[in-house]
Amino acid sequence: MFKKGTSLYSILTGACPKCHYESMYINKNPYVLRDTLKIHDHCSHCKTKYRLEPSFFYGSMYVSYGVGIAFAFAAFVISYLFLETSLKTSFISIIITLIVFGPIIMRLSRNIWINLFMKYDKALAKEQS
Ligand SMILES: [Zn+2]
Repeated sequence: MFKKGTSLYSILTGACPKCHYESMYINKNPYVLRDTLKIHDHCSHCKTKYRLEPSFFYGSMYVSYGVGIAFAFAAFVISYLFLETSLKTSFISIIITLIVFGPIIMRLSRNIWINLFMKYDKALAKEQS
């Protein structure tokens, strides 16, 4: 799908931002809600620590605001413009979208956030593999 070595790969798959070798998340499925935000301490491949500092991921809330708006906007366009539902129904579809995609939005925001601070490192990725 997306090539390893691009930030987009890490953002969409939740892979380690430095080596793209394995998932940061303990459970790959975001819909196991008790595991949605659980990530490993560090990458077992390149030893990158994911939490740069305590409460590092609080910053991802700012990102999730933007990501949430993108999802809400998409939901609105699909229901109001394409399906031609009423305004009220469109807003209900926005709320449902935000709830249904909530876990994905949270993870996407975290992935974007950590990729703002870490870049893919070819040397790290090659090591041991
Ligand atoms: Zn790694």
